[in-house]
Amino acid sequence: MLRFAPSPTGDMHIGNLRAAIFNYIIAKQTNQKFLIRIEDTDILRNIEGKDKEILALLNLFGLLWDNLVYQSDNFDKHRQLAEYLISKDLAFYCYCSKEFLESKRLEAKEQRKPFRYDDSWAEIEKTSNHKPVVRIRGAKSAISFEDSIKGEVRFEAHEIDSFVILKEDGIPTYNFACAVDDMLYDVSFIVRGEDHVSNTPRQILIHRALGYDKVLGYAHLPIILGESGSKMSKRDSASSVAWLLEEGFLPQAIMNYLISMGNRTPTEIFKLQDSYEWFDIKNIAKSPVKFDIKRLRFLNREHLKMLNEQEFALLLNSKDSSIGALAKLYLQEASTLNEIRTKIDGIFTPKCITQQENNESFEQECIVLYTHLREMIESYSEDLKDYESLKKALLQKSNLKGKRFFKPLRILLTGSTHGLELSEIYPYLRFFLRDIVTLDSQDYSKLSLAE
Ligand code: GLU
Repeated sequence: MLRFAPSPTGDMHIGNLRAAIFNYIIAKQTNQKFLIRIEDTDILRNIEGKDKEILALLNLFGLLWDNLVYQSDNFDKHRQLAEYLISKDLAFYCYCSKEFLESKRLEAKEQRKPFRYDDSWAEIEKTSNHKPVVRIRGAKSAISFEDSIKGEVRFEAHEIDSFVILKEDGIPTYNFACAVDDMLYDVSFIVRGEDHVSNTPRQILIHRALGYDKVLGYAHLPIILGESGSKMSKRDSASSVAWLLEEGFLPQAIMNYLISMGNRTPTEIFKLQDSYEWFDIKNIAKSPVKFDIKRLRFLNREHLKMLNEQEFALLLNSKDSSIGALAKLYLQEASTLNEIRTKIDGIFTPKCITQQENNESFEQECIVLYTHLREMIESYSEDLKDYESLKKALLQKSNLKGKRFFKPLRILLTGSTHGLELSEIYPYLRFFLRDIVTLDSQDYSKLSLAE
């Protein structure tokens, strides 16, 4: 069993999604099941509805799970196993108050020694504190494990002191709930963020205390750095999966990017399913990787190119494949759905010619062209059939030349002063001319003055 274990305490970060994808790929490659475990042990930090949001995102990315569990459903089992450990003297009640531990922490700091819990403190405050926690006994010898990315990782016994497994309210800590559930669900391999490296020997210690001798595989993913080179934080908007989607990056492009980050891949552009053939977690670079939005933009464009016109139109909320075809053309100068939307909206928004240039003769030229174009539209002119005929007829009717002709025409058709060749986009605009060649209300008044 492979698993992805998100905490419902915040938005899904691209680092979390990367771990989910890798666990999923390994499950597919090795024909094992994929479990989603919502780690809701930190009751105060849980955010209502985050679990559903995370599940919806996993679904959108096609990371479908075979099994879904909420860690809180297993609290009774966690408590039973903690009691079992107490009965074997592998865990014990600790009555130390926060103040006592804090004073010990300060003492260690003054002596320039690392703080270590001493088991002899456990009952010092037994009479005054009625809410003990449960601690598992620390390691007696070094604990090492094989990490598919980092190689062998070793922790000395003194680095793993007796730590809390049940809090004073009887709720299991992350390490305990995680280790117990990995055992209960027969998890074989764990891909997760590097911030969990120091938790791994603690979870192994718990397994050993419970007499569970399965050797799990681990891969701790290096952190993702922001553009500035420091750890990508929640303040970097690109670190949020929801933000990337809102910007108009496709799930398949984000997926492609996250799989290829710090990795060797046989092709640049691929789909999730393709990676089952060649993905090897051992190829992931040990060093941190920098998030490169330019590369994601490139991949997004490539994935958008693979869509057919109908699919593209649907992503833009249109059923008309001509819109999809137009969007595909705009991929020459746009990389995200939002950028494409802006271009297409510009075409369909009533044109404001007075805002373009503070130049009366330019406005006049626009008005002249607009009037002729509208006339041709109203009379179903044959000359609208292709760009060459349109151009010829309008040049003749308007008497305008060169820039004084093309610039106003471009604005009337696209709402922009520059962009793709009109001859290239006209075949797709032709069906919508009645909606495209319109002026905003301010410009209509100019029109009546001109008449
Ligand atoms: N809930 C932990 C997290 O979101 C999971 C770590 C793990 O995979 O064990 O970081």
